[in-house]
Amino acid sequence: MKYSELLIPTLREAPADAEVVSHQLMLRAGYIRKLASGVYSYLPLCLRVIRKIEKIVREEMESSGAHELLLPIVMPAELWTESGRWDRYGPELLRFKDRHEREFCIGPTHEEAITDLIRHEIKSYRDLPKNCFQIQTKFRDEVRPRFGLMRGREFIMKDGYSFDRDEENALKTYELMYDAYKRIFTRCGLAFRPVEAMTGAIGGSRSHEFQVLADSGEDAIVACDQCEYAANVEKAEIQSSSDDVHQTSAIKGKFRKVPTPGKKTADEVGPVVRLLPQQITKTLVFETDKGLMIGMVRADHQLVEEKFKQATGVEWCHLAHEDAVLKTIGAPVGYVGPIGVTIPVYADHALLAMENFLVGANEKDMHLVDVNLGDFNVTQFSDLRRAVAGDACPRCGGKYSEHRGIEVGQVFYLGTKYSEPMGAHFTDEAGKDQPMVMGCYGIGIGRTAAAAIEQNHDDRGIIWPMPIAPFHVEIIPLARDGEVFEVATKLAAECEDSNIEVLIDDRDVRAGVKFNDAELIGIPYQIVIGMKGLQEGVVEFKDRRTGMTEKIKRDDVLARMLTIFHQEGMS
Ligand code: ATP
Ligand code: MG
Repeated sequence: MKYSELLIPTLREAPADAEVVSHQLMLRAGYIRKLASGVYSYLPLCLRVIRKIEKIVREEMESSGAHELLLPIVMPAELWTESGRWDRYGPELLRFKDRHEREFCIGPTHEEAITDLIRHEIKSYRDLPKNCFQIQTKFRDEVRPRFGLMRGREFIMKDGYSFDRDEENALKTYELMYDAYKRIFTRCGLAFRPVEAMTGAIGGSRSHEFQVLADSGEDAIVACDQCEYAANVEKAEIQSSSDDVHQTSAIKGKFRKVPTPGKKTADEVGPVVRLLPQQITKTLVFETDKGLMIGMVRADHQLVEEKFKQATGVEWCHLAHEDAVLKTIGAPVGYVGPIGVTIPVYADHALLAMENFLVGANEKDMHLVDVNLGDFNVTQFSDLRRAVAGDACPRCGGKYSEHRGIEVGQVFYLGTKYSEPMGAHFTDEAGKDQPMVMGCYGIGIGRTAAAAIEQNHDDRGIIWPMPIAPFHVEIIPLARDGEVFEVATKLAAECEDSNIEVLIDDRDVRAGVKFNDAELIGIPYQIVIGMKGLQEGVVEFKDRRTGMTEKIKRDDVLARMLTIFHQEGMS
């Protein structure tokens, strides 16, 4: 392919609003351009990378028994009402009306569409299992679209859905997809880790995220230093340690009131009463489907709503409105405490180890100090908080370390969450009507490309892993005619005949410009051809990653490229 024919608008400087490296480099190297917030055009180099990732995804899906189809992007509101998500999904769902005032949405994910298809077509156990996937443009009206393809509003996703006759088979399918995902991200050349995850808006009961480890990642994960266990910090279970024993030595009933005018948060109150955050508690009032409830954590810890939901058994919860708190507790937010309240109190395990701590006094501008367990009723002690480095692993007692990750894929065991409300049933061998048992499996294609750049770049530009590079080798002739150009063209043709993809920089620009652009766009190997070298029968061969250059005989270049190809597992 000729460089001059492609649209590769490289830039000297990264635009100021590009915060992460992958976004900066995709813009600078002419891979993407923004059309609107979170909406991008994929230029030729980018599209080639995307197609390569898609090819790997297709191969691994098909060989694992999942087969491709294509669902509509636009879906009618009625379908989403059936699953209950028309109301629940919130403003991320882009909704619109057609000319007949009928409501529709643009798919952010496709459980409804696939379940509708399957419920009409599959009636018998004989037709199960079915595992379908598609690669399609999605739209989510993200609150903060950012980081280029990493968190767009319009983005390409591989989404797959499986239907099995029972839980046992559905879990087997889940394992098949989990293994396929490991192969996909390995083949893409990424360093990643599967971690246990929360199920979020998609729902279901079992889930893993595939996290590419990178400092710029938006997700926080913890990994055990002793065993394989790794999880999203929100999901990670925390073993209540031996320190978390009830402090019986503490004297109950000795608490006293201290004035803390205008000081609501632990950071504000702490200095006034000379207490560290570890000696202060946060009392959070939640509105839930079972009424108001309190969640308590240490001030330096963060309560996780999903864990709170699990501990309390409520369907939904959100922080109660200030007015509701004032009405029920009699104190404004910031001064709420557990003593004397009549609503249920759920406390994090870490409170078991606290002694002489501070709580709100349920009175404006007042807190209580020297409070101890026993001074108030706790409905239940549970694991309610976000894991941090140093917490104990529930599997082996090892210690957690914290990492940043980019979620490139996620697999969910859904059970009958969609098949039940939407009536996707089949008749089993005994003639009994049963709901199908589902799983769903997503991969962000553009985000995977961005994550690959986060892991593979230097200060000069991108360094693509060979399997997803837009081209395998860039040939840089130092002249546009004569022997130099002839050799370059011939070499390119030879490589292409062997399925090696070549970009030949035939532009009428200075050598320095060609070199800089080659470094920036990140094709893994470069071959520089100049008159001087040719007189000695050699060309310069460069490995973009190591920066190593060597002179090799012109006639040996193809053999060298084929060896590399073989080593990289490309042929
Ligand atoms: P996130 O937590 O990052 O918002 P999610 O968990 O909501 O993502 P899923 O519903 O699991 O996303 O979607 C499957 C995959 O689609 C994700 O693992 C991710 O790779 C990709 N993806 C999700 N949202 C976006 C987005 N806004 N831009 C690009 N890719 C995305
Ligand atoms: Mg996800």
